[in-house]
Amino acid sequence: MTVEITLLGTGSPLPSPDRAGPATLVRTGGATLLVDCGRGVVMRMAAAGVLPVGLTAVLLTHLHSDHITDLNDVVTTHWVMSPDPVPLRIVGPPGTRAVVDGMLAMLGPDQRYRLDHHDDLNEGPTLDVTEVGPGDVLELGGATVAVHATDHRPVTPTVGYRVEHEGAVAALAGDTVPCPEVDALCQGADLYVQTVIREDLVRAIPSPRLQDILDYHSTVEQAAQTAARAGVHTLVLTHYVPPLTPGDEEAWRALASAHFDGEVVVGNDLTTVAAGAS
Ligand SMILES: [Zn+2]
Ligand SMILES: [Zn+2]
Repeated sequence: MTVEITLLGTGSPLPSPDRAGPATLVRTGGATLLVDCGRGVVMRMAAAGVLPVGLTAVLLTHLHSDHITDLNDVVTTHWVMSPDPVPLRIVGPPGTRAVVDGMLAMLGPDQRYRLDHHDDLNEGPTLDVTEVGPGDVLELGGATVAVHATDHRPVTPTVGYRVEHEGAVAALAGDTVPCPEVDALCQGADLYVQTVIREDLVRAIPSPRLQDILDYHSTVEQAAQTAARAGVHTLVLTHYVPPLTPGDEEAWRALASAHFDGEVVVGNDLTTVAAGAS
């Protein structure tokens, strides 16, 4: 195995009793990367055998609340479980630093309580925030992480991450409609993880606010068309809107398979998919 992804949360803003919010773990030889921090992420990380102190970096695709709501839990748990001060690397699009600063302000009382109470805790969380844009390339724990543009307008800026290790590639697109930049992000990737919505099911729900989401997400069919155009090996669906109900997996898969000959993974939280030499 050279690159392995674990779906930590396959849910969306719509609450689900068994799907955490959007988050995906990417593990390579020396890197453990957390892409987005949706609802319940630290619980799912624990189930996957990873604690926040074990993260090489947190990568944020964008600043929509469903993708960052539990970043504060990652930060606090990383802080209180580190015996010595260890910086937590957080990478995200422009605006990330301001969001992190606001989150630290929200956590101010908690930090004061803990610093006052614990004699062996002498400083607050140390965060190393890097704001990135398309074209940036980072080396994280031996993995090469290339930043690509995505199109989730009017939400902007948004980015996707192409993680490469020993020739194996996992592409994590986040929320986006199909576009040439996403084709480049996942070109020839072993694993392409795409947040998706079911257009047919969403259209059947008479809520104007829900209908609005159709214009800035990939449908299942569009994700499959992107995968086919880009010559992807395996398409991994996540962020199901509406929540995927057990027994409905084959209906989701069929919509993708009509447009893409490769493997389609319709997983649950903690589904793991590996690529590369074993
Ligand atoms: Zn979004
Ligand atoms: Zn989302």
